[in-house]
Amino acid sequence: MRPIVAYISEKALAHNLARVRQYAPESKVISVVKANAYGHGLLNAARGLKETDAFAVLNISEAVTLRDAGYQHPILLLEGVFSAEEIAQVDRYRLDMVISHRGQLQWLLEYQVNLPVRVYLKLDSGMHRLGFQPSAYQAALDQLAASGNVSEIVLMTHFANSDIADGVTQAITIVGQVMPIQPYKRSLANSAAIVQQPHTHADWVRPGIMLYGATPIADKTAVSLGLQPVMTLQSGLIGVQEIQAGESVGYGSLFTADKPIRVGIVACGYADGYPRHAPTGTPAAVNGVLTRTLGRVSMDMLAVDITDIPDANIGSRVELWGSLVPVDAVAQASGTIGYELLCAVTARVPMHVID
Ligand SMILES: *Cc1c(COP(=O)(O)O)cnc(C)c1O
Repeated sequence: MRPIVAYISEKALAHNLARVRQYAPESKVISVVKANAYGHGLLNAARGLKETDAFAVLNISEAVTLRDAGYQHPILLLEGVFSAEEIAQVDRYRLDMVISHRGQLQWLLEYQVNLPVRVYLKLDSGMHRLGFQPSAYQAALDQLAASGNVSEIVLMTHFANSDIADGVTQAITIVGQVMPIQPYKRSLANSAAIVQQPHTHADWVRPGIMLYGATPIADKTAVSLGLQPVMTLQSGLIGVQEIQAGESVGYGSLFTADKPIRVGIVACGYADGYPRHAPTGTPAAVNGVLTRTLGRVSMDMLAVDITDIPDANIGSRVELWGSLVPVDAVAQASGTIGYELLCAVTARVPMHVID
């Protein structure tokens, strides 16, 4: 067996969910498990998050996976349905749905549902991605309120800039102008808003990334937010090289030693989801000791500096990210965000749920 594995900590998921409740004690929690639970495995994550009040997914098949595994929670389709036919599945599997355009609204109103559906009516508060324009929102709300197919309407928006300290001011002004105060509940906040925009918490918060123990905010670490990493991407050394000053490592000879060093070859590459753009100096840990990558990441391997880790040898354990090496640090070195790295772990990496 190739030594690479992604460990998924159920305990860390439960801890991070509890942390969400500390940040937003008055709100119910919709745990966002789209994108295969940000790469952690949908059912792995659902188990650790079973105390949540609801789940949110991207599409029907993820929702059905949860229902088939026995989850009775409300399950929200974050982008609603993609065709009129899918309303039948919403009805059959008792799903909640976002409605963000007139087509979705018509599809729901025209279908004869067995059980009325809880609807999240999405307002475009400035992100200009999905949602009704402010001028069209009230009419959509009136139509839904008059329909026997609707059990409850939750007013919803998604922020473009909640990761910036004063980034929601404009959006909140629009929300205040457009959303009636009574009698509807609201859902506004993603992870960044949960940790730094308490006035947006409202009735239902929608955390994603923070549940997985990565930071939603560029200048704050996950540890400083009280979050625990859920995924440990671990592998092992499958080669050791002693190289002399002037010799290079890997494709393109991007790294050249300026003194004699020991190099460890790790069984992890971009085909496992490790970022190819990670430069020399990206953090990694060997035998629990922090060190750095060297040279270019290959498809199935990468190199690390083990000069100062004399006990490191073939078979030694390597943490690519986890509690010693925050995924956010690898992301920052590679010019991306933790979200992308976690989602990108590929299917050939075995996942094991621990604790
Ligand atoms: C993905 C998503 C979230 C979660 O966002 P995080 O930044 O991961 O917390 C919340 N709401 C909507 C509509 C989303 O698409």
